[in-house]
Amino acid sequence: MNKYKTIIGLEVHIEQNTESKMFCRCSGRYFEKEPNSNTCPVCLGLPGAMPFANRKAIQNTILFGLSFGCEIAKYSKFDRKHYFYPDLPKSFQISQYDLPLCGEGVCEFGFGKVRIKRIHQEEDTGKLTHIEEAGAKSSLVDFNRSGVPLMEMVTEPDFTSADDVVTFLKYVQKVVRYLGISDADMEKGSMRLEANISLSPDGSLPDYKVELKNINSFKFLKGAIEAEVKRQEEALNSGEKLIQETRGYDQVRKKTVRQRVKETASDYRYFPEPDLLPIVLTDKDIDEVRSRLPELPIAKQLRFESSFGVSVQYAELLTEDRDKADFFEHLVKETKLDPKKIASELINNKNYEGVSSVEEFKRIFERENPTLESDIDLITGIVSKVLEANQDAVAKYKAGKLEVIGFLIGQVQRELKGKADPAETKKILENLLS
Ligand SMILES: [Zn+2]
Repeated sequence: MNKYKTIIGLEVHIEQNTESKMFCRCSGRYFEKEPNSNTCPVCLGLPGAMPFANRKAIQNTILFGLSFGCEIAKYSKFDRKHYFYPDLPKSFQISQYDLPLCGEGVCEFGFGKVRIKRIHQEEDTGKLTHIEEAGAKSSLVDFNRSGVPLMEMVTEPDFTSADDVVTFLKYVQKVVRYLGISDADMEKGSMRLEANISLSPDGSLPDYKVELKNINSFKFLKGAIEAEVKRQEEALNSGEKLIQETRGYDQVRKKTVRQRVKETASDYRYFPEPDLLPIVLTDKDIDEVRSRLPELPIAKQLRFESSFGVSVQYAELLTEDRDKADFFEHLVKETKLDPKKIASELINNKNYEGVSSVEEFKRIFERENPTLESDIDLITGIVSKVLEANQDAVAKYKAGKLEVIGFLIGQVQRELKGKADPAETKKILENLLS
């Protein structure tokens, strides 16, 4: 059907939740603080201020890399990436260029393999807010976020559809939450997405890619990718040459719009950061971080399917977050109930929302699953009483309105507080009525 192969690669920025910033002692928790109250000479880029690297942030980035099977570099270094923008007081961002902390990795998904090209350590910028007051436009800058640790993951162009991209990114989000290193909240900006898209007539990598930026939800990303693929398809069909550029997404018109023609690496004038030592790691350092790796969501999901017999869909929902998965396993162990039954109760019944103890679960479970009364003599007695009291319903039934049996079963249930075995009750009713 399609004349072109869609080729998509991703860049994902994740802000870490460390106590302090990447290169100074300011707090890493800047959210909702008074603007510019969480700063110091280092993160304001004042002359002479010396940065020092956050060990915990580097360990977290290694942990993230290990979760995706990345090779961890024993020698990596920081570089200055230069560009001018009002939210960047130093006029350069400390990042990693040719020697990133985490190298190649690979991850298997239902739709195929995703190769990770690299994951590197860098710092966040400040935040600009554009306002208009009495017709005058101005921009406000807040440096509270400036210098907060950021990890950037770059994938190879291994995706061919927006759906596969979303599946992968939801997994990335789940992993960082399992690791406890970020809340990866797109609305707050602690997870930011960029997609590079090109179309190929013959499957080979084209000489351009269009970078989609400023995407803050999975839904938005799916719409943006689909709109961009359509635009490129139409352009190629009409013989137009596509160029390297950055585009944003107009949600209302469902179209992507040009932002700027893309810079190349040489525009950033990268060079080694002279104020920071290289990161040198031993096998022992890396193993120490590896020992902190929890069971990852994919492994947990497969284990839930094989050990507890729950469906793929249920296993996926149960492993959505680590607390939920742990609670499920705890219940299986403590209640001795059928794991499939526990899973379906937790997933389908709203009454369990917010429940976090075994006792509370048991209490609700007993209320929601009353043991059924199947004592035939007892039910027969109550059925007779109900028939006695509902002569007109009996008459209707005899006249052929068989559906009134539902009403009669309901009356029996009322007498037995919902505990009558419905199949048994129906059988007894039918017997007595005929
Ligand atoms: Zn600072």
